[in-house]
Amino acid sequence: MSKIKIAELFYSIQGEGRYMGVPSVFLRTFGCNFTCSGFGMPRGEKTKELNDIVNRVHYFKEYKDLPLVSTGCDSYASWHPSFKDFSPLLTVDAIVERTMQILPHNEWQDEHLVITGGEPLLGWQRSYPELLNHPSMQNLKELTFETNGTQMLGNEFKTYLGQWQNQGISLDRELTFSVSPKLPCSGEAWEDAIVPSVVVQYQSVGYTYLKFVIATEEDLADAERAVNEYRSAGFTGPVYLMPVGGVECVYSLNNRAVAEMAMRKGWRYSDRLQVPLFKNEWGT
Ligand code: SF4
Repeated sequence: MSKIKIAELFYSIQGEGRYMGVPSVFLRTFGCNFTCSGFGMPRGEKTKELNDIVNRVHYFKEYKDLPLVSTGCDSYASWHPSFKDFSPLLTVDAIVERTMQILPHNEWQDEHLVITGGEPLLGWQRSYPELLNHPSMQNLKELTFETNGTQMLGNEFKTYLGQWQNQGISLDRELTFSVSPKLPCSGEAWEDAIVPSVVVQYQSVGYTYLKFVIATEEDLADAERAVNEYRSAGFTGPVYLMPVGGVECVYSLNNRAVAEMAMRKGWRYSDRLQVPLFKNEWGT
């Protein structure tokens, strides 16, 4: 049986993107190909906040004891090697069993599944067919992968997902790729982060949109440049802008400005409801 290293598995309200407000199970896999240490920092600078936490790692007993950060990646514990022991390697059966326990009626009804990370489309994609074919998952109707848009789907997985669109199997599932490409404000290099061919591949098997995390006019100009590259490659889906801010004091500084930028561009605005509702605590 396949196993997946799980950083978090929890039930909450989806705070971002297409399914904002929908009750959702979040399966957060461990591992990422980026570090995004530039978020919330002056351009070109990298956060040192994470180094302090890494140096104190032995003070923390479990994942939810770890502090929230105001700069850099707000889900750092889902990929940094110093915290890997907080993320158990679980069998598909164990993941499904826990999922059923946290659903309010212990079965899928109107809830949506979010497979997130870290970067969920790294090697774990090989295990998802077994997870999604599990008998207890048959009533799941809506699934989103939250990805940074850099990982191609392997042939086998792409064929598997393509069957849903072609109704080759009896499942009637809506598949969404919520792609959050990392702009220069993340600290990642453009050529590593903006990979239009990957997003066009996702679009061939599921509903796909772009969601850019931004704060300034300079970030907006980067988002425009990226959208042009995606459009030139054949991407046709919608574009969202979402404010930087894993903690409320940062989020509330720029959410209105980002909403106004979205209106100006004719793009969509995505809130990050988990920040005002739940202070972005682990498990929300
Ligand atoms: S891609 Fe996402 S999970 Fe990975 S480091 Fe960046 S913000 Fe964090």
